[in-house]
Amino acid sequence: MDLLALPAFADNYIWMLHDGAHAVVVDPGEAQPVVDALDRLRLQLAAILVTHHHPDHVGGVDALRPRLQGVVYGPAREDIPKPFTPLREGDVVGVLGLRFQVIDVPGHTAGHIAYAQLDEPRAPLLFCGDTLFSAGCGRLFEGTPAQMLASLHKLAALPADTRVCCTHEYTLSNLKFAAAVEPANAQVRTHTQHCESLRAAGQPTLPSTLALELQINPFLRSREPAVVAAAQAQGAASAAPVDVLAAVREWKNRFR
Ligand code: ZN
Ligand code: FE
Repeated sequence: MDLLALPAFADNYIWMLHDGAHAVVVDPGEAQPVVDALDRLRLQLAAILVTHHHPDHVGGVDALRPRLQGVVYGPAREDIPKPFTPLREGDVVGVLGLRFQVIDVPGHTAGHIAYAQLDEPRAPLLFCGDTLFSAGCGRLFEGTPAQMLASLHKLAALPADTRVCCTHEYTLSNLKFAAAVEPANAQVRTHTQHCESLRAAGQPTLPSTLALELQINPFLRSREPAVVAAAQAQGAASAAPVDVLAAVREWKNRFR
């Protein structure tokens, strides 16, 4: 299986997984990058997976239907381009001979789902949309800090070698914020240098891994004493993880 991050818009990636003949894409906010890749690699489009309803994730779905030999899958509780097969937690999607488990991850939007592929013999895969970013998380447009905390907990419980496929190239700006939250976190510094050279070479900083995210992502570290202290300095109501996450998220919203 090959995994490609197709650049779209200013900083989106449309993830494409293919076996040399058939492909699945995740969150095609626009169609053209997908059409170009299908043509260049001579692939048939076997399925489209959607994580949530935002236009930069579904904008290309209808234009891709003429190329689609299979089904559009999406979150049961969100309004995405119809027809689609509605999914909720516990559902399993079979595409390209792989099984993707559906996980409810409300927070960024109310019905956001993620897709975890845990049985490929090599590293497992997670398509998490705008819930978990490298060194960050999505804004809370429709959900609460408690929901986002619970959603991130579920993702953090996946195998450490899970490849984290997020939809946006926000890593460097997230790392700048992570360094403000945890100035003494050496992993944040090391990874920033690594990502700076990737970006300078025009390469994506993704996929990340869960093992790395657990070390650098302040939103997965709401129990770390340094993160708790930083959150309290920003006005967190208590040291409870939900209050820490809420304060860090608010801080990130105003951070430049
Ligand atoms: Zn979004
Ligand atoms: Fe997005």
